[in-house]
Amino acid sequence: MQGSMQDWDLRVTQLIDYAAREHGTREIVTRWADGSIERSNWAGVADEARKLSQAFNGFGLEKGDRIATFAMNHHRHLAAWYGAIGFGGVIHTVNIRLFDEDLIYIMNHAEDKVLMYDAAFQPVIERLKPHLKTVEHYIIFDDAESYGALIAAQDGHYEWATGDERDPCMLCYTSGTTGNPKGVLYQHRSTMLHAMAEIAPAIFDLSPQAALLPIVPMFHAASWGLPFAGAAAGVKFVFSATNEAPILHRLILDEGITHSAGVPTVWLSMFGHLDAESAAGRDASLGKLRLVTIGGSAAPRGMIERLMKSGVRVSHAWGMTETSPIGTMGAPTPNWDELTLDEQIDVVCKQGRVPFGVELRVIDKDGNVAPRDGVTSGALQIRGPWVIKRYFKADADTVDAEQWFDTGDVSVLHPDGTMQITDRVKDVIKSGGEWISSVELENIAVGCPGIAEAGAIGIPHPKWDERPVLIAVKKPGADIDEAAVKAYLAERIVKWWMPDRVLFVDELPHTGTGKIQKVALRQQFKDLVLEG
Ligand code: AMP
Repeated sequence: MQGSMQDWDLRVTQLIDYAAREHGTREIVTRWADGSIERSNWAGVADEARKLSQAFNGFGLEKGDRIATFAMNHHRHLAAWYGAIGFGGVIHTVNIRLFDEDLIYIMNHAEDKVLMYDAAFQPVIERLKPHLKTVEHYIIFDDAESYGALIAAQDGHYEWATGDERDPCMLCYTSGTTGNPKGVLYQHRSTMLHAMAEIAPAIFDLSPQAALLPIVPMFHAASWGLPFAGAAAGVKFVFSATNEAPILHRLILDEGITHSAGVPTVWLSMFGHLDAESAAGRDASLGKLRLVTIGGSAAPRGMIERLMKSGVRVSHAWGMTETSPIGTMGAPTPNWDELTLDEQIDVVCKQGRVPFGVELRVIDKDGNVAPRDGVTSGALQIRGPWVIKRYFKADADTVDAEQWFDTGDVSVLHPDGTMQITDRVKDVIKSGGEWISSVELENIAVGCPGIAEAGAIGIPHPKWDERPVLIAVKKPGADIDEAAVKAYLAERIVKWWMPDRVLFVDELPHTGTGKIQKVALRQQFKDLVLEG
């Protein structure tokens, strides 16, 4: 026997329909890089999305085809998400911070048919174009002859594609681990469940009263799902196509921002700006801001303290592209009101608790499930309907038989379920919210004349959370110093990958199989202090 309720497949188009129907006049604001402000609303974005779907249909695209975007945060990018999904396609948000080789690999691997981008990225796109094998249509968001003309040519009479809730809707690549970047292919169902969970008070606490400024880019980890959850809640969205602190601060004050979300680095620059405003006798407040969600890297205590002392609640979140990305989220505990500010800050410094929908466990060094005792650390694993099962086009699942996904993070679980990240086993460095591949850095460094072997590790940094440091062994008799290695690297890597320090040792610690033992190396340099 089955229950006798209505059978609705969960489809992402229901989100944009809902937002347009019930919150149609709620504003969607874009602050473009040239300083101009453009105002639309949910009805306007839905109309653009429908026209884009109609256009993609007119291109002859088929269900499941990928539409790539290479763009900053703005309302047309939002319309593109829903427009790509609306005709049955898959929105593929490409991370603009990657190397050309990775971008080419990703877009060819995804077999993107359309590439939509901001005019500012024209030089990059020109470099990539000759190598992109599947892209048939290039559309420039901020160009009246391109995006503008495409929209104007549609009458908007188009019905969203229907289908199964397990159809794919979005593709995000993560370059977090070794080897080529890997694609995470979200479903309509996983995205909808995640969006519905996200609006809860203990997660993003979204409602039609919220004015949300997502600082997390739309090209990283699905912008933490906010473009979907925001529609489910009918929030006012404010997008900024650039992320300089003075601009974001202006928007917070002028647009009545209540909620914001981003990686820790953003807030450090904001504090610098606020101090300067205060010294100049200008408004250094955060206006109506009441909830800031920080994730992507550990939020430092001082940052949490400063925000909380200015009356803003801080939610500390942990997640991954592979987990849609919400894994855990900090929210006030049952005894919150009895805690001192210091105790509250202690709570927020940890990564929070798991929301309904996903499950967490820690596996200790002997392979057993660790008790939730706040001391036993081990491999953090997660499972649930918005957690990855298999990477895009991979031959095998990336989870065990019980669906547990190993995150590569090391953590402890406290008795009340609060999760605390204590280390990371995956060999990567996260600087300002973006990954630097230590393996790639090492491979390039060992090409430097005079270097026999090199290991790259992440060292805590006051501004960027982590910065790479290269630990190198010289070839016998080689006459080489830090400056020479840096000069060599400067011609081969992007600027933000440059190690803050290059240090020389006689030998590096190795595992039994001859690999550099990163945990031991990090331990060896744990007292190294990098300056901001
Ligand atoms: P990404 O897929 O790029 O979003 O990166 C996910 C990874 O970022 C996680 O596996 C962690 O290593 C790291 N991460 C995310 N949030 C936090 C946090 N709040 N504290 C510490 N590390 C974090």
